[in-house]
Amino acid sequence: MKFIIATNNPKKLIELERILKPLGIEAVTAKQEGIILDDVEENGTTFTENSFLKADAACRKTGLPAIADDSGICIDALNGAPGIYSARFAGESSTDEEKNALILEKLRDVEREKRGAHYVSAITCVFPNGDKIQVEGKCFGEIALEPSGNGGFGYDPIFLYEGRSFGDFTPEEKDKVSHRGNSLRMLQSELTKYLEENNAYK
Ligand code: IMP
Repeated sequence: MKFIIATNNPKKLIELERILKPLGIEAVTAKQEGIILDDVEENGTTFTENSFLKADAACRKTGLPAIADDSGICIDALNGAPGIYSARFAGESSTDEEKNALILEKLRDVEREKRGAHYVSAITCVFPNGDKIQVEGKCFGEIALEPSGNGGFGYDPIFLYEGRSFGDFTPEEKDKVSHRGNSLRMLQSELTKYLEENNAYK
């Protein structure tokens, strides 16, 4: 069964494709099917709601089952912000560097022990018959005192996992422990169950 990966974010797409392939999930972009996905207004109040909005829109537009990720970083000292606003934190068109600089500035006086943070990746898979599978993966760490490394994307250079910046992780190292690696492994297991129960392998 072929799935549409519902994202217009090129960096996220690289991770989704990289993780889904070895899990045996055949996923293509809408573009590869010759379809352009419209930007979806992410007006949900949770990561899961927003991932549903994106997957549902892509499934309706393509007629194929669609998988969408909505993700972000939640920082303890900022009461869970930026959370679902992670992509827009520091302004709609702000760069990753600007967002990271703003976080470091806001946490300037916060001591090491209080710099806890976690990433969330909510995944929704929507089928053309309206069925859906929803899972959520997390990854716990802390905010660094300064950026390090060029790996990953977004907040990775300032996110420390077990004391080491995600910016210094290889893609394989990140996938093993990341929120998105965790959520997609959960999706694989739920999807296998769903397809078996619905005789989709016959
Ligand atoms: P979304 O496209 O609304 O899900 O935006 C997610 C935003 O959260 C991204 O633009 C990044 O800023 C941030 N984010 C999500 N996952 C990651 C990650 O794995 N590393 C770094 N930043 C991430």
